[in-house]
Amino acid sequence: MRIGSGIDVHAFGPGDFVMLGGVRVAHTQGVVAHSDGDVVLHALTDALLGAGGLGDIGQHFRDTDPRWKGADSKHFVREVMHLLRDRKLRVGNADVTVLAERPKLSPVRDEIRRQVAQLLEVGLEQVNIKATTTEKLGFLGRAEGIAAQAVVLLIAVE
Ligand code: MG
Repeated sequence: MRIGSGIDVHAFGPGDFVMLGGVRVAHTQGVVAHSDGDVVLHALTDALLGAGGLGDIGQHFRDTDPRWKGADSKHFVREVMHLLRDRKLRVGNADVTVLAERPKLSPVRDEIRRQVAQLLEVGLEQVNIKATTTEKLGFLGRAEGIAAQAVVLLIAVE
């Protein structure tokens, strides 16, 4: 078994939605990002790469590469899943925490869980999506941005 962790942060900017776990979530702002700025999928991508001993998201998908301008972050997860499959690794489970004052996660939590489970090729019960605020402290507390942390366990395929 191999474990990996990932963290991602994006600042809020102009817009009226944020992408979280591949799900479009209505919000009073968007995020500033080269890709679609999905903190959940970026943290997951880094956790998968970490568990696989494969570096980090910036090494695989440079944020200066025009190919990833506005990119759907599901692509990053799928690419990394492909690398892991080649190495005979599959996901055991994933645990994700979204850190933000808003948007509220509860209305979309189940949808994000379904989307993430599908991307990681596991059952729903292998994916957990948590949310927390930072009690109004720091840049997250001032609602200047949004962050996510992910932990993933990989299992060797027999
Ligand atoms: Mg990111």
